[in-house]
Amino acid sequence: MTLKEAYQYGREKLEKAEVPEAALDAWYLLEYASGCRRSHFLACPGEKLETDREQVFLEAVRERARRVPLQYITGEQEFMGISFLVSDQVLIPRQDTEILAERVLKYLRPGMRFLDLCTGSGCILLSLLKNCPGTEGVGADISAEALEVARKNRERLSLSAGLVQSDLFSELRGKFDVIVSNPPYIRRGEIPSLMEEVRGHEPWLALDGHEDGLFFYRRIAGECRPYLKEGGRLYLEIGWDQGTGVSGLLKDQGFTEIQVVKDLAGLDRVVIGTLTGGC
Ligand code: GLN
Repeated sequence: MTLKEAYQYGREKLEKAEVPEAALDAWYLLEYASGCRRSHFLACPGEKLETDREQVFLEAVRERARRVPLQYITGEQEFMGISFLVSDQVLIPRQDTEILAERVLKYLRPGMRFLDLCTGSGCILLSLLKNCPGTEGVGADISAEALEVARKNRERLSLSAGLVQSDLFSELRGKFDVIVSNPPYIRRGEIPSLMEEVRGHEPWLALDGHEDGLFFYRRIAGECRPYLKEGGRLYLEIGWDQGTGVSGLLKDQGFTEIQVVKDLAGLDRVVIGTLTGGC
């Protein structure tokens, strides 16, 4: 198979399987399998794909046609300009989550200690540490498999960060200046209506916010006080229709300076609150 034939084959297969952006994905999979850059492809479309590369490509196309997300096939996703390893044991980092990380970065200063709850791949924790050296970061997740991925990312980026298997705060010690989290927040009843890539392949544990989607916000708001310093801040990613609900939960727990931040699409995406009034 030549590079061009491979691309056309992949594109047709993915189009038939109704994969969104079939042409683009066929290209990404070919790039992944062949290691060949676009400029090379355009210059030498008639070049033969080595047999082992061809096998990798065909398998990758088969997987994508079953609607396995591209990132689980290539094993990587970029977040905050950094490439993170991913597997089907972690949520694929989303561009929207960069809004959350950027907000935290604006506030974070060397010497501060921060906690990333539900760290998954570690994308928030590690991108914050990379962008704000001199801070101390701890990531917690209930899933041992997710923490394994976060550990690999920590090693790959040569960063030091605490990683703890914990049901939210259960295994954590000490106080933090900042707590950040992108917890599971999809209403359970809505999961079956999500894209096949998400509902069929991403870990439910990372999506499921129980009946009303607010389960983890309720727990985080209710349980965080002993772990947050006086004047410390809580940063939460939320779904577009959860701004009022989550702000209310923070208010009920005594948080002040509550702000809702919008994403690039103009939808509510992040809630921030400050903990005041002793504990
Ligand atoms: N913190 C990770 C992320 O933002 C995982 C979030 C999750 O599993 N809900 O991608």
